[in-house]
Amino acid sequence: MNSSVSLQNISKIYNQVSVVNDLSLAIQSGEIFGLLGPNGAGKSTTIRMMTTLTKPSQGNIQIAGLDIDQGQQIKRKIGVVLQQVSLDQDLTVWENMEMHGRLHHLPKSLRQDRIHHYLDYVDLLQRQQDVVRQLSGGMMRRLQIARALLHQPQILFLDEPTVGLDPQSRRRIWEIIQELNHQGMTIVLTTHYMEEVESLCDRIGIIDKGQLIALGTLAELKQQHGDGLLVKQVGESSRPQWDYQFFPTLAAAQDYLDHQTNRVGMMVRPANLEDIFVELTGRNLD
Ligand code: ADP
Repeated sequence: MNSSVSLQNISKIYNQVSVVNDLSLAIQSGEIFGLLGPNGAGKSTTIRMMTTLTKPSQGNIQIAGLDIDQGQQIKRKIGVVLQQVSLDQDLTVWENMEMHGRLHHLPKSLRQDRIHHYLDYVDLLQRQQDVVRQLSGGMMRRLQIARALLHQPQILFLDEPTVGLDPQSRRRIWEIIQELNHQGMTIVLTTHYMEEVESLCDRIGIIDKGQLIALGTLAELKQQHGDGLLVKQVGESSRPQWDYQFFPTLAAAQDYLDHQTNRVGMMVRPANLEDIFVELTGRNLD
């Protein structure tokens, strides 16, 4: 498989602080790749560098085989959905799509066909004449996705695509992302929700304080740390603290528990990405 996105020793320095620090990463064509990390980890800065919106202080980036300084050509190959809603709130749904189509120089009849197609795709055709400010958060996010698809990019970048959305809207966005990926689109997303990467992503990069601290499939990450977890309460019951111990399998964790004479405050459960994050950093994702 080809590399769609390649980052080599990328750093970004703001006010003498490295907010992204020597990050190297290759994202393959056709995969859903998730960059997971807590707020402030450097995810948005990384996605802004991948999408030509911010220049790296150091290092090289290639997108769809192009060097990052070939901004105009790259913009034709990528779609970008940023966290802050970048729609014109005073224009209608259709007018927002029109503006984007014109920016990409799509001829009128092709533009109209595609606007119709992608609004239908994200279930917004019935809302085409609504002013954007009247839409719900989930609808706005779907409109941002439809707009990012209008010029039919190879790679779609989404920065925290479901932050602040209700569970139903979140699930719909996940379905859209999965459908696009099944059609062959490479997807790169950032999130601080572990369920989002667990449900969606083929591979995961965990980022903390600007550094990539783990990389692999969910199965690989779990295999490295263990599938089973023993959780043990160690603090006072008024101020409980928890000790985590990984085991290769859930059965092994259960077996260990079964052999303890005093099992008070202990339980066994499958390990998840949050546990791995805590193991690696000593902190929670949120
Ligand atoms: P995340 O997306 O993981 O929450 P960000 O990439 O937004 O993290 O931010 C990483 C760090 O970089 C934060 O400490 C943030 O304050 C800082 N930062 C981001 N953008 C700028 C900027 N334009 N100027 C100065 N500092 C910035």
